[in-house]
Amino acid sequence: MSSTSSQGPGVIVIGSGFGGAVCAARLAEAGHAVTVLERGPWRDTVPVRSMGIERRTPFPRGRQLFTRALRSIGGNHFPGGKLRLNKYGLFELFFGRGTRIVCSSGVGGGSHVYSASHVRPLVENYWQGHNPEISDAVMAPCYDSVLARMGSVTPTAELGIPNTSAARFRDSEHLEAAAPPPDPRLGYLLPKDPANPQKITDANGIERCEVDYNANDEGFLGSPGGGKTTLDFAYLAPAMQQAGLAVRDLCEVTAVIRQYYGAARYRVEYIDHHSGGKAALETDHVILAAGTLNTLRILFHSRDKLGALAGMPQLGLRYGTNGDYLGYWDYNEPGLDQTRGLPTTGGVKLKGDDNSPMIGGGGFPSVDSYPLPKRLRERIKRGAFIAGLGEDIMNGRVSMRAGKLRVTYPFSLSSIFARTQAVFDEIGKRTGRKIYAYKTPLTVHPTGGACLGSSVEDGVIGANGEIFDNPGLYVADAAALPRSPGGPPSITIAAWAEHIASQFPKKT
Ligand SMILES: Cc1cc2nc3c(=O)[nH]c(=O)nc-3n(C[C@H](O)[C@H](O)[C@H](O)COP(=O)(O)OP(=O)(O)OC[C@H]3O[C@@H](n4cnc5c(N)ncnc54)[C@H](O)[C@@H]3O)c2cc1C
Repeated sequence: MSSTSSQGPGVIVIGSGFGGAVCAARLAEAGHAVTVLERGPWRDTVPVRSMGIERRTPFPRGRQLFTRALRSIGGNHFPGGKLRLNKYGLFELFFGRGTRIVCSSGVGGGSHVYSASHVRPLVENYWQGHNPEISDAVMAPCYDSVLARMGSVTPTAELGIPNTSAARFRDSEHLEAAAPPPDPRLGYLLPKDPANPQKITDANGIERCEVDYNANDEGFLGSPGGGKTTLDFAYLAPAMQQAGLAVRDLCEVTAVIRQYYGAARYRVEYIDHHSGGKAALETDHVILAAGTLNTLRILFHSRDKLGALAGMPQLGLRYGTNGDYLGYWDYNEPGLDQTRGLPTTGGVKLKGDDNSPMIGGGGFPSVDSYPLPKRLRERIKRGAFIAGLGEDIMNGRVSMRAGKLRVTYPFSLSSIFARTQAVFDEIGKRTGRKIYAYKTPLTVHPTGGACLGSSVEDGVIGANGEIFDNPGLYVADAAALPRSPGGPPSITIAAWAEHIASQFPKKT
């Protein structure tokens, strides 16, 4: 392995998901020189091809489902803490105590695998009471800005989206569609004529294919046609074209070193997976946005293993999962194909249960590409994944012991899990179609651990996203969230990143 070091740009952003892509694009558009270091590859999609990106990695389909679905696997008791299986892989899995975490890898981060439900926090007064300078009123324009840039649409009956909960459970004896959350939005390019989806070119020259409701190719295995709105083209592409944003794919940051002597405050060390070599950049401003698990990993490794960062007494406290509880609903109704329509079909509840937690789901994605016998694929199409979510008490703790990241989450102390489990059981009992869920909840929404607070005594970062005792180092991703949003969090994370960019020192 070779090692190189160079004086870097004005701002280095680590990760290109909801925190990273949004912050990087906005800072570049405000005139800063910004470089994004992203561990995953550019994904091979119609929009990314139209951006002129040459090195692209297809989403796992066919036999590659076995070899490229997983990037890495790790956990509290995993030898070495973590094992990388394939640098082009889509998902990372982590087994903590009382929690299992799924996150993704690639330029655009979680936007490739998400279900594109854009929902503002479902808990009231979400931003109040964490820091005197932050409030719901301060954050409101940031949400508006995200929804506008993502081109989010409001799902209405006139759009003719097939296979929604409302349609599926219209005649059900036991179930009904749940009332939608306030101002529900979706990040998809829906077809003007569902029978004839078109390819379009947007104002930035980005090509996209409208969603094809019969193709079942927009879900958590990626959206090759670009029907799902992802951050690579919605945020990064315009900033690359018009504001000189640099995005380096397959660059995995290992450490952030604070330098007390020398030209720049921080040295960011990374592995360049193109060459296999180690490299480093130096800068005064680093924005961490590697997702909750990996932002915390970088901070702990840098502070506890290398002694290269200071303080942060609250680091790792208040880890949460947004109350996620995922299961498999063995629906198996003859003739039913749950994969038509959008990846999520909307909320469902037991008839008359007005206190139900938010529960929704949908068919499995891209099933025709699975390297399985047709009979089995047809069977999978009759099943569904189902997820409950809601506010948890964020009582988890992330730490590092002997160089290994550990996550401990006493999930049973958050009442949301017992409530969701009870509804899952009751749905199974009443409909005769069981929901299978592991007792230890699996989350796709890990949050916290480097939370917004008012001082070093009760948080890791302040009102502008900067770590209290490491000036110039910021947290822009889900690790910053001080409370569980109680619903899908991506828009809240993106709004936080918009806020950080808006507060960033002006370019002089
Ligand atoms: C299957 C699934 C469905 C979901 N559906 C929804 C939904 O419908 N609505 C919703 O709101 N949310 C949804 N989510 C959650 C949403 O995707 C996450 O909350 C969101 O992506 C988190 O944003 P982030 O910026 O914190 O991290 P991410 O978006 O995960 O971005 C982190 C990025 O950092 C990169 N990275 C990690 N480590 C390093 C490193 N060491 N060096 C460089 N780069 C690194 C990663 O590769 C990744 O690209 C879903 C998630 C999953 C997995």
